[in-house]
Amino acid sequence: MSNREPSVIGIDVGGTKTLGLVIDAAGNVLLQEKWPTRQGAAAVTEMLAELAQELRSRIATTHKVRGLGVGLAGLVDSMGRLRRAPNLVDADEFAVRDLLEPRVGMPVLVDNDANCAARAELHAGVAVGVRHGVLITLGTGIGGALIVDGAVVRGAAGMAGEPGHMLVDPAGPKCVCGLSGCWERYASGAGLAYLGRRAADRGDLASLVGTVDGTPEPIRGEHITRAARLGDPEASAVLDEFAWWVSVGLANCAAMSDPEMIILGGGLVRDWDLFGPRVRRHLNEVLVAAEHRPEIRVEPAAAGEAAGALGAALLAADETGLRP
Ligand SMILES: [Zn+2]
Repeated sequence: MSNREPSVIGIDVGGTKTLGLVIDAAGNVLLQEKWPTRQGAAAVTEMLAELAQELRSRIATTHKVRGLGVGLAGLVDSMGRLRRAPNLVDADEFAVRDLLEPRVGMPVLVDNDANCAARAELHAGVAVGVRHGVLITLGTGIGGALIVDGAVVRGAAGMAGEPGHMLVDPAGPKCVCGLSGCWERYASGAGLAYLGRRAADRGDLASLVGTVDGTPEPIRGEHITRAARLGDPEASAVLDEFAWWVSVGLANCAAMSDPEMIILGGGLVRDWDLFGPRVRRHLNEVLVAAEHRPEIRVEPAAAGEAAGALGAALLAADETGLRP
């Protein structure tokens, strides 16, 4: 057993599923495993410890595991605590690192899931070689990561790169966070649904409303994208409005960080062909001095479903010296 190769584990805890994998020093994925996510901080701790143990024992004959990286949705601080987690049940102020380290007997590194996804894109995705970038995940809400000098920036307390609650319309609708008019009220999956309901309230989308009980209330984002695909011009107009709001937030991110590339990930990127070109076009309309600066490449994420877990593993690889 003494000549086993070094490796690290990465686990990404999603709202419904949790993906764990093991990588070697070169960042190659050796094996991976997907479990349903358990609910509540105590159950998540248990799940993480069990999944890490399972992965470790499956690779034990050839590899020694020297660290565990964990990616979680929400505000994660530099002490390995999940401070606020709107998409997980009962997981605010969850001291992930301190609870888990004694259970697994190795260093535990914790970061936000979008930061982890950005590490995966830098390593093996669309952002290989990128020095300055922004990654935005468009899902139920909006996540983000800031790449400076080729590395993910965590900020003073570990919470940098969270643009979902930038105020883009202070007179706008109330957000889950308590503020009003946050970017994710318009530019997330929930935002697309809101824009659809608002259009229906003013009398648009009549044929779509006819398919969902005759009222705007049940309209969700996927209804809009499906109708737009089928050629409904009013659904296409809502999608265009959505792409404009996405661009507004991207322009704000770009004004702050001057990225060479903006990477868009998250569930909504499934419909990249529908809204990606519109985002690129609108970004040039709302970006300051667009004609006087190099074009910012806007690209869909490419690291796939395992991006969060791979990025968590890469974090552990960096912090335990597995990668120089
Ligand atoms: Zn908000």
